[in-house]
Amino acid sequence: MAPMKLRDLGEFGLIDTIRARAATAPGVRRGIGDDAAELELPAGERLLTSTDLLLEAVHFDFAWISPFDLGAKAVAVNLSDIAAMGGTARFLYVGLACPADAAIADLDAFIDGVLTEAGCHGAVLVGGDTCRSPGPWIISVTVEGSVPAGEAVGRDGARPGDRLLVSGTLGDSALALALWQEGSVPEPFLAARHCRPTPRLALGRELARLGLASAMIDLSDGLAADLQHILESSGVSAEVNRADLPLSSAFREHLDREPHRFDLALGGGEDYELLCSVPASRVNEALAAASRLGVPLTPIGTLLPGAAGLLLRDPDGSARPLRVRGYDHFCPVQEPAVQ
Ligand code: ADP
Ligand code: MG
Repeated sequence: MAPMKLRDLGEFGLIDTIRARAATAPGVRRGIGDDAAELELPAGERLLTSTDLLLEAVHFDFAWISPFDLGAKAVAVNLSDIAAMGGTARFLYVGLACPADAAIADLDAFIDGVLTEAGCHGAVLVGGDTCRSPGPWIISVTVEGSVPAGEAVGRDGARPGDRLLVSGTLGDSALALALWQEGSVPEPFLAARHCRPTPRLALGRELARLGLASAMIDLSDGLAADLQHILESSGVSAEVNRADLPLSSAFREHLDREPHRFDLALGGGEDYELLCSVPASRVNEALAAASRLGVPLTPIGTLLPGAAGLLLRDPDGSARPLRVRGYDHFCPVQEPAVQ
């Protein structure tokens, strides 16, 4: 028998299967199945909302990501934005456009990925929209979270003297992508870092709850570009120690053979780690909080007054300014984003 296609199930058939599988939660008065979801937030909490668009051939390629991982990643990258505000993830919406000949098995796997990742982090799928695409898959995920009033952490609170800390390791995801694009196969650890990023919700929430982070952002465009957002919003500069950047052993092995890969730790995207500034007097509290949660957190530099931008200090003590440009979808350039 030919594998079943989306055209055999139809839009409402697909929505019914999604609805049947979506979980419910306290807070959800009405989920999938009405004109709008009706939801409640805990008393005293403020709504956080974020949305992300993923386009086949622009953001992902089924040659290196499975439908399950794509569903999980589409959710994870949104949850990462809630983490970066210090919030708790609550509600999800999935807009999906795919071709009529998409295999039902792929859609099932995609939805599995969405629901698995959401379930791991306490988020509930409460709505979305579905339509036919003339070609590529297009996925738009929106997440709503909440944060106790006054605890949200923005990009604008960093102060001179604060220390810069980053969770996890840098560059793994971008290295996996570079290897695929060059026709080689990344080792499973690197591939997983690209296909299954970990949203750092518990860490973001804890840093916000304890009032430790003065500014925070999640790394989607690469450390240098995302740090630049904190520097501009807060009106400060930064010095980052090259030798302090946290790198995985898989990344270091590549670095031993190909030192130029180091740029991926600074300029490569899709780490989905948290970068935060913490007053120097409270760094030990932040490190203790991270270690209680089992999440690596590493001091990598210091914030400075003025508008000098980002200085990279090399192990020999010399420092050079790093000119950074985040990826611009409308003006993609050939040169590397870090110079
Ligand atoms: P409308 O015509 O009002 O847009 P739809 O028929 O598109 O309603 O959707 C019916 C219900 O199914 C709504 O609750 C909507 O949020 C939900 N829904 C539609 N597509 C998806 C999807 N891809 N994922 C989750 N829920 C969906
Ligand atoms: Mg609709």
